[in-house]
Amino acid sequence: MSSLHIVGSGPAGLSAAHTAVNAGAKVCLIDDNPAPGGQIWRGGPGKWIDRRAAAMWHSLDAHPDFTQLKRASVIGAVAPDTLLLEIEGEGLRLPFERLLLCSGARELLLPFAGWTLPGVVGAGGLQALIKGGMPVRQRKVVIAGSGPLLLATALSALQAGAQVEAIIEHQPSARLATFGLGLLLRHREKFLQAVSLFARLWRIPYLTGAQIVEARGDGVLQGVVIEKNGAKQEYACDFLAAGFGLVPNVDLARALGCDIADDAIAVDRLQRTSRTNIWAAGECTGVGGVDKAIVEGRIAALGALGLPPSPRDLSLHRQCHDFAALLAHNFAPDASLREMCRPGIIVCRCEDVRASSLAGQHDWRQAKLNTRIGMGPCQGKTCGPACQFLYGWSLPASRLPIMPASARVLSQID
Ligand SMILES: Cc1cc2nc3c(=O)[nH]c(=O)nc-3n(C[C@H](O)[C@H](O)[C@H](O)COP(=O)(O)OP(=O)(O)OC[C@H]3O[C@@H](n4cnc5c(N)ncnc54)[C@H](O)[C@@H]3O)c2cc1C
Repeated sequence: MSSLHIVGSGPAGLSAAHTAVNAGAKVCLIDDNPAPGGQIWRGGPGKWIDRRAAAMWHSLDAHPDFTQLKRASVIGAVAPDTLLLEIEGEGLRLPFERLLLCSGARELLLPFAGWTLPGVVGAGGLQALIKGGMPVRQRKVVIAGSGPLLLATALSALQAGAQVEAIIEHQPSARLATFGLGLLLRHREKFLQAVSLFARLWRIPYLTGAQIVEARGDGVLQGVVIEKNGAKQEYACDFLAAGFGLVPNVDLARALGCDIADDAIAVDRLQRTSRTNIWAAGECTGVGGVDKAIVEGRIAALGALGLPPSPRDLSLHRQCHDFAALLAHNFAPDASLREMCRPGIIVCRCEDVRASSLAGQHDWRQAKLNTRIGMGPCQGKTCGPACQFLYGWSLPASRLPIMPASARVLSQID
């Protein structure tokens, strides 16, 4: 019987596990969260509204060939075909025959004045906190940055009883109209979803072509200043959710020696990576949303088992990639966002490195040696992509461990 290890139990990982188990394989699904679902289906089976998630989980849960490792962080690889995991403080060396990476994406956070104040969070971060049960009822929330995630976050905040003061989109309205037209012409279902989302948010002021100037507060966030067409306006708020897009999680793929292209895991049309026994699917191979993750998970699982994808899946796959390209083209962070990061602003919040000390550094390595940027607990996961955008530096290389781990587990590395 073939065995498949899958890292990540978001839509891509669940879809892959469901497909592989139904094709007769033995599946081990690994995730650092306490429940399956990843970002969009956070919270686990009891909280899912999307019927696809529940249907996939129904066929997996209690299946004799399915194992789930929860709260299990894959912190790297200790041999070409052996992962190192930390599970509740204990280390585990896990050999694999075939591996599927479904490690998702994280938010692109860009520095601006006051972004380290308590109350300033990522857009997806706020959504994750709300889904995790953080109360926001009657709290004032401003959502700013760029991309469709701002709207999803606004809806989550609204449904949780927050007072959403404004959504601030950096892209100009002409760009958003082009995106809308692209959806209408080529992705009718997503166009209708967007219309329905806007209809539910119609009371909330939606500013386009606007930018954060600073978050203000005395020790804690009290308001945010926004600029549009040269005019400034301040919104009082308890939370500022600021997100500028997503960045694929490629650290594990890099640690395993898989090729990376355009900052995502490089895969062919059957989701094969550059390593013969490793496949990848979902947001880690390029940002494109839940439908892309699901179809890629299916194609990758079949590929890993030596089975061909259906023509319908291949056609869906092409459609999802077209949508991903439309997203990337219309929501690429604009160079003018660099103006938010003035010299005194902290860029690396783990090590308190300010933009002024990064001026004159040539690349990430030199900056790291001279300023300690990226040497704190997040190991450059936040400031690395920010510096790539601000200064054009390549992303920092992955080092073991790819996420914080206990000394006991680290001692297992040869
Ligand atoms: C914070 C955030 C919120 C989002 N909210 C929405 C939303 O509301 N609506 C929407 O349409 N899209 C949202 N997205 C986009 C969303 O990521 C995708 O649409 C979809 O969830 C992608 O599925 P995936 O399976 O590729 O990845 P994910 O759903 O991100 O799943 C990846 C999983 O892998 C786990 N993982 C990664 N690395 C490791 C490791 N080394 N060890 C163990 N586990 C690991 C992660 O914890 C995660 O559970 C959000 C993205 C982010 C980053």
